[in-house]
Formats: sequence, structure tokens, C-alpha cells
Amino acid sequence: VVQVDQVHKRYGPLEVLKGVSMAVERGEVVAIIGRSGSGKSTLLRCLNGLEPIQSGRIEVAGHVLDASGRGLRALRKDVGIVFQSYNLFPHLRVAENIMLAPRVALGLSKRDARARAEATLAQVGLAEKIEAWPDNLSGGQQQRVAIARSLAMQPKVMLFDEVTSALDPELTGEVLATLEALARDGMTMLLVTHEMAFARRVAHRTIFMHQGLLHEEGPSEALFGAPRTLELRQFLAGGL
Ligand code: ATP
Ligand code: MG
Repeated sequence: VVQVDQVHKRYGPLEVLKGVSMAVERGEVVAIIGRSGSGKSTLLRCLNGLEPIQSGRIEVAGHVLDASGRGLRALRKDVGIVFQSYNLFPHLRVAENIMLAPRVALGLSKRDARARAEATLAQVGLAEKIEAWPDNLSGGQQQRVAIARSLAMQPKVMLFDEVTSALDPELTGEVLATLEALARDGMTMLLVTHEMAFARRVAHRTIFMHQGLLHEEGPSEALFGAPRTLELRQFLAGGL
């Protein structure tokens, strides 16, 4: 479902992705780990077409992205992305937050969009919050609404960029549980995370990025249990 070939991405003179290649199969859960600045967020943003690439090729859910930047709109309907900050619209209730994109981008009727909001909220365990205002929810609940909002587009691939990093420790667990449930349901997911125990347990495969390159990858258990490169060993020993 995801195929990345020799992707190069530069910000001015700074080369952030230096020829990244990787693939993700349908139903696979892949974690991306690595030091700050190694290019993890940039890779996710490129996968969703939020950042143009200078060379290489990205194919996601049947859409091809290259340096020309065509095919973006179609791609974004099929690829959901959730960030560290949840960015719900504060002036809209939970229901309307979720219904907005399906209404505008997919042209769903109010009724159908509402049905999707109900279904995706149930999926993240917040069915009873459908009429709530974002400000009246905890950080963890807001993040789960943000996930529901993304799911309402019925994406083929979901990208998560450190979705628990802004949360207090006691709220992290409920969001990780939501992600784990999604993974169990067979969603194809790529997640950048600092939650090593979670990555090891839930991700089928983990990718370690280092200085703009995919430095080491493998089945999560093997990668965490027996890291092969010095850089990964140092990263795992030293935390961030
Ligand atoms: P973190 O763990 O801190 O989130 P990361 O691995 O996600 O790090 P990126 O955000 O992908 O790292 O950034 C990679 C490099 O690209 C960094 O050196 C960063 O400063 C640079 N960078 C990111 N976004 C931009 C931008 N919009 N303009 C210029 N440089 C950028
Ligand atoms: Mg980042």
C-alpha cells in the first residue's frame, strides 16, 4: 500500500531525506523511531503530500507522488494523518468537527456524515461525547476525537506523528489503547513514536531513522531485542 523509492527532500541547502526507500503492506503496522531531527516527521509529511519532494517516487494507496506534485487531492482522501497537536476546531462541536471533511471533501449528506461521526466515535470509545465542545474534553479525549475525525474519511492508510507526546502521562495510555485497537482491526498504520515499549509490542515492524536515512529496520521484536547497528544501540540506550 505504501512504496517509497529513493526519496530526497531538501529544505534549502539542508538535505533532510537522503534517499529513503521503504514499503508497507496492507494491514501492516510500522513504527518509525529515531533521534530528533532525523527526518521522521518530514517523511510522514511527504507521504501525505504535505511536503513536496525533490526526487524519488512515493506511491500511497494507489496514488503516485513525484517531484511534480500532481495527484495530491486524491491522495489525501485516502491517507489520514494525525499530529501531536490535535487542532480540533474549538467553535464546532465534536460531531461537526468530524463531519466537516466528509461533507466538504466527499460531498456526503448531513445524515451520512453524522452516521460516520457516530461510528468513528464509537471506534475510539467516545460515543457519548458527540455533542461535546472540544474545550470540555481532556487532552487524551481530544486526541481520540482527532483520530476519529481522520477515520471518518475511511482512509486506506493512517499516519500518526507522535500523537501522545503532548499528553500528560496518565492520558497517554488511552490514546495508545485506541491505536492498538485500530491496529488489531487491520488498519494499515505508520507511526512515529517515542513510546518504545508500545512500538515493540504493537508494531509488526520498526524502522530506525538516522540522519535522513533508514538506518536499520526489522520485525519489532528483533530490532529492539537485538539491534545490529551501533547507532541504534546508542539510541535505545540513551533515550532520545
Ligand atoms: P523530532 O523527533 O524532533 O520530531 P524529526 O525526526 O521528526 O524530529 P523532522 O521534523 O523531520 O525531524 O526534521 C528534520 C530536519 O529538517 C531538522 O533538521 C529540521 O530542523 C528540518 N526541518 C523540518 N521542517 C523544516 C522546515 N519547514 N523548514 C526548514 N527545515 C525544516
Ligand atoms: Mg517530528
